[in-house]
Amino acid sequence: MNRTFETIRAITLDVRTYGENHLWVTLFSEKKGVVRCTAYGAATSANELARALIPMTYGIYFIRKSAAYSERDQSQQVYEIKQAQILKGHQDVAADPARSLYALTMCDWVRATEGAEGVASVGELFRELEAALRLLSTQSAAGVLCHFGFRMVRVLGIDLQGTACLRCSESGEWVYSFREAGYLCTGCAAREPFGTTLSVRHTSVMRKMVHTPLWRINAIHLRDTTANILLRALFTILVEQAGISSKPLRVLTQMREIFDES
Ligand SMILES: [Zn+2]
Repeated sequence: MNRTFETIRAITLDVRTYGENHLWVTLFSEKKGVVRCTAYGAATSANELARALIPMTYGIYFIRKSAAYSERDQSQQVYEIKQAQILKGHQDVAADPARSLYALTMCDWVRATEGAEGVASVGELFRELEAALRLLSTQSAAGVLCHFGFRMVRVLGIDLQGTACLRCSESGEWVYSFREAGYLCTGCAAREPFGTTLSVRHTSVMRKMVHTPLWRINAIHLRDTTANILLRALFTILVEQAGISSKPLRVLTQMREIFDES
C-alpha cells in the first residue's frame, strides 16, 4: 500500500479525543472534501500540530493513509496527520462564545455534506467556508451564517436560482414559496395560503446571496431582523431539501443576545 505523505490545504471542522492522548479529526480539504484523520499523541501536546487542529483553523496538513484503518474497511479511508502549518487561525472568533457557535454551525453543515457533494463543487464550498470564517470576526454573525448557508445550498445543487415563476413561467417580481420549494410571481403568490411565502423584499435579498460568492465581498450588509427571517427560511430549506439539521436558531440567537450585551 502506498503510504507516502501528501500535503493538503484544509480547514479543521471537528476534533474529538480518543484513547489517552490521541485526536480524531475531521478536515475539509480543498481537493478531497471531508477527510477523516487521526493525530497520535496530539491531545496532550502544545505544538503547532495541536494548534492547527482547533476547529475552524485553516492550514496545510501533512497526511498519509492510515494502515490500521484502511485494512479494515476500504470505503472508510482514514488518514494520519503528522504535521501541520497554520495559514490562518481564528483566535478572535474562538474567544467569542457566540461567534464560535456560528462558526461551528457552518463546520457542522459542511461535515453533513460528506458524500453529497460532487467533486467539482468541493473547491467552491471550501472557498466559501474560508471566506465566511474570515468575515466572521468583523461582520454580523447572523449575516455571515445566512450568506454562507445560501451559498452552500447552491453548491449542493439545490435549485434556488430560479429564472421564472414555477406556475406560470412569468419573470419579474417573485416571492419564495415554502410549499412549492421555489419562486412564484406575485400574481400566483396571491393565491397561496397566508404565511407560506417570504416577502418580495426578503426573496430578493436571498436571491442576491445565492448568486454572490462570499469570497468576493468584504462586508455583509444585512439587518439583524432580516438575517433572522432569512435564517429561518434557510434552516427550513436545509432540513427539507438537503436533510441537514442545525442547532435550533433560537439557541444561536440567545447566545448572541447574551454575549453582545456583556
Ligand atoms: Zn406566476
